[in-house]
Amino acid sequence: MTSASCLPLVAIDGPAGSGKSTVSKALAERLGVDRLDTGAMYRAVTWAALQRGLDPGDVGAIGSLARQLDLEVGGRIRSDGTDITDAIRSPEVSAAVSAVARNPDVRSVLVGRQRRWVAERGGGVVEGRDIGSVVFPDADLKLYLTASPEERARRRADEDANALARRDRLDSTRSASPLEVAEGAKVLDTTDRTVSEVVEEVMGWL
Ligand code: C5P
Repeated sequence: MTSASCLPLVAIDGPAGSGKSTVSKALAERLGVDRLDTGAMYRAVTWAALQRGLDPGDVGAIGSLARQLDLEVGGRIRSDGTDITDAIRSPEVSAAVSAVARNPDVRSVLVGRQRRWVAERGGGVVEGRDIGSVVFPDADLKLYLTASPEERARRRADEDANALARRDRLDSTRSASPLEVAEGAKVLDTTDRTVSEVVEEVMGWL
């Protein structure tokens, strides 16, 4: 537990299409806690950078943009009041998000916001790439989801398979908080399993 509250804190990491969003939603509902999609936060900063015509690789400019943005990450995602829930899923944002996510300034701003989100609630289900390894290493439960490359590409049919593989490679090889199995994380292959099977197994670990 990272807070004084009695709500559980579950950290879920894994590559694109591994089932994080579906599992985290179902698990949060089952536990009666809120869910935070941290990928949406990196996507929101990327969307805002592209809107302003900024180079996603410009470390200084994107770092200060992340500090200034007023981000809302409840059910709908809003940046400075604009609803960008659908816009952040565009191929342009998917192609640029890894360049923004490797920026240490962006990471430090967003990690601070993620920790505040959990502190305000006393727990929750948080999904991303570095949640168990960096953001909440003391979470009550750390999960690392995987699935076969074919299944992951099928689940992310909206994203070109090569682009998806490139994003995973960039996320796993960057120096700032790369995607990796956190120490003590339970690794779960979701390829041939239903959401309820996964949730049942996870509930047994809590
Ligand atoms: O989860 P999703 O695929 O929407 O994440 C989009 C991108 O955000 C990832 O490819 C990764 O570059 C970045 N990300 C990250 N750390 C997190 C969550 C997402 O670097 N905790």
